[in-house]
Amino acid sequence: MNIQRGYCGLKCGECPAHIAMETDDDALRAKTAAEWNAQHCSDMKPEEINCAGCRDDGTHIGFCAVCPIRGCASGRDVAGCPECSDFDACETRAGFEKQTGLNMRDAFRE
Ligand code: SF4
Ligand code: SF4
Repeated sequence: MNIQRGYCGLKCGECPAHIAMETDDDALRAKTAAEWNAQHCSDMKPEEINCAGCRDDGTHIGFCAVCPIRGCASGRDVAGCPECSDFDACETRAGFEKQTGLNMRDAFRE
């Protein structure tokens, strides 16, 4: 399982907030804030566009800052929810997949 991904299977390395932080790219921060504000009717400032990545203890942004998947999976010996023995019964995982439309098992296969 590729640990460059978040515990849910999202590719943190492709997230513009992560790239902007890694490369200290203010133009990318401004572009990303504008796009995300238009998509989500939010009011993020360019200087807020920073994310260390799901598996890093540093800064996180938006949903990833409060993500229950990260909070749970990081305390278990799993690379992601699909490795968890409680996967099928987990309401947190099921709720996340329903809310986001992400199929975690498929995401880890990509
Ligand atoms: S913080 Fe949550 S939503 Fe973000 S990549 Fe990690 S598991 Fe996925
Ligand atoms: S209990 Fe649920 S949220 Fe936690 S690691 Fe297992 S499947 Fe993921």
